[in-house]
Amino acid sequence: MIDPDLLSAIAQVVGEDYVLAETGDLDHYSGDALSPSRAFRAADLLEKTADLVVAPGSAEEVAAVIKLASGNATPVVPRGGGTGVMGAALPVQGGIVLDLQRLNAVFEIDPQSRMVQVGAGAVLEDVNNALYEHGLMLGHDPWSVPIATIGGTISTNGVGYLAAAHGPMGEQVLGLEAVLPTGQLLSTPPVPKYSAGPNLNHLFIGAEGVFGVITQASLRVAAVPEARHFIAFRFPSFDQGFNAVAEAFSIGLRPTLMDLTEEGGGTVLYLMFQGYRELVGTEVARCQQLCAGYKGKDLGPGPTEEYWEDRYDIALDYRDEVQHLPRKERWARRRWGFDYLHMALPVSHVLDYRQRASELLSQRGVEVREYAIWGRPELFSMLVRPTSDELDSARFADTVDDVLRLAQDMGGTMEYCHGTGVKLAHLIAREWGVGLDVVRAMKQALDPANIMNPGKLGL
Ligand SMILES: Cc1cc2nc3c(=O)[nH]c(=O)nc-3n(C[C@H](O)[C@H](O)[C@H](O)COP(=O)(O)OP(=O)(O)OC[C@H]3O[C@@H](n4cnc5c(N)ncnc54)[C@H](O)[C@@H]3O)c2cc1C
Repeated sequence: MIDPDLLSAIAQVVGEDYVLAETGDLDHYSGDALSPSRAFRAADLLEKTADLVVAPGSAEEVAAVIKLASGNATPVVPRGGGTGVMGAALPVQGGIVLDLQRLNAVFEIDPQSRMVQVGAGAVLEDVNNALYEHGLMLGHDPWSVPIATIGGTISTNGVGYLAAAHGPMGEQVLGLEAVLPTGQLLSTPPVPKYSAGPNLNHLFIGAEGVFGVITQASLRVAAVPEARHFIAFRFPSFDQGFNAVAEAFSIGLRPTLMDLTEEGGGTVLYLMFQGYRELVGTEVARCQQLCAGYKGKDLGPGPTEEYWEDRYDIALDYRDEVQHLPRKERWARRRWGFDYLHMALPVSHVLDYRQRASELLSQRGVEVREYAIWGRPELFSMLVRPTSDELDSARFADTVDDVLRLAQDMGGTMEYCHGTGVKLAHLIAREWGVGLDVVRAMKQALDPANIMNPGKLGL
């Protein structure tokens, strides 16, 4: 229950139209794209519901709401597109869900600096549409471009199709404006290099909103390329494909798109090179030569062109068919037991990890439907599924945990793409070790009442 005085004070700040307390609204804004079937031991937390949804229209309104919530020790959970797949935007302790989608202005496009200054609630697709008019585009291009926001993608440090050349979302960030748990407004300069102390942007990149609310970002953007070349190769084995990718990166070849996928017995490498004409031609020629050395059969541009055309289909389907449904109906659509895991390991450990993880999974009755390398040779993922209905959810969850622990033990990380949310919170202490004490001390200093997205990142 929200304190009625707090409610009316917040309504005065943002206007009554932007304070929602109807059951249907609370239900909608209390969920994201994590369903109980993938949440495993955290499934009960998905039932938790916010007491209030507040949609501020400016950074000043965000600051005023946070100050009021802080004075009342009421949790505040920032929410962008609500498309996260780990439950990071769930109000697990009730309180206020802060819907940031009204902060969607594109303030400035600076072609010479190759920079855009944009509100945190802007959807990536809308920002791209504004940039295209200037011959520019974002360097972050996840499947969820039509539904995810700037603030959400920074807060999960997501990975997308262009990551091989441009890196994850965090690497697009030059400067940020954010409201701290005290209600103070912090901003960092939009420059690519710091040597005047630590870069405070990293307090927010991948931080799942636990240190404050991002209200604005200045992002590095890329020029729409002069030339683009799609190409695909089929390899006799995943290992040969992987070794080709590792060598390509080690000699400095930089495809913009790189996806090596093994599914249904075949291994295909999807590549796109883009940039200025002469560079693209040279890189493609060297790549063909290199892949031939690993017995890669050149499939021409067709498979990658198709892959590229279809890349947003799942997100468009989610936006049009699923996202508006009540939580329980959304979950009912995603009942089949599967999980997707995204580990990062040093390049030299990836194939060994794949072998050991596969053995562990098959001993426990779990099959791998797909192995993939996406963006960089270090970024390894698996789509896993029990081989029979006899494997119950608890044992499937334990097996998944063991595979993630194996990545940690082999010098890697349990998740490179989606954050940890509620799904992986129980493995955070193991992942961070003493680092968790450091983060807890920072949290205690910045947010002593723990109002900002409590229960996430082990805090
Ligand atoms: C169909 C589909 C495809 C997907 N494909 C990809 C993909 O290719 N790559 C990828 O990385 N992810 C992908 N995702 C996951 C999801 O889109 C990303 O995690 C995305 O970054 C989340 O953005 P969002 O705006 O929806 O954030 P939300 O889900 O709303 O929030 C995510 C986290 O960020 C915090 N947050 C949100 N806004 C702010 C803010 N302004 N300030 C502070 N904290 C904030 C929230 O509290 C939460 O902790 C996909 C999801 C779906 C449903």
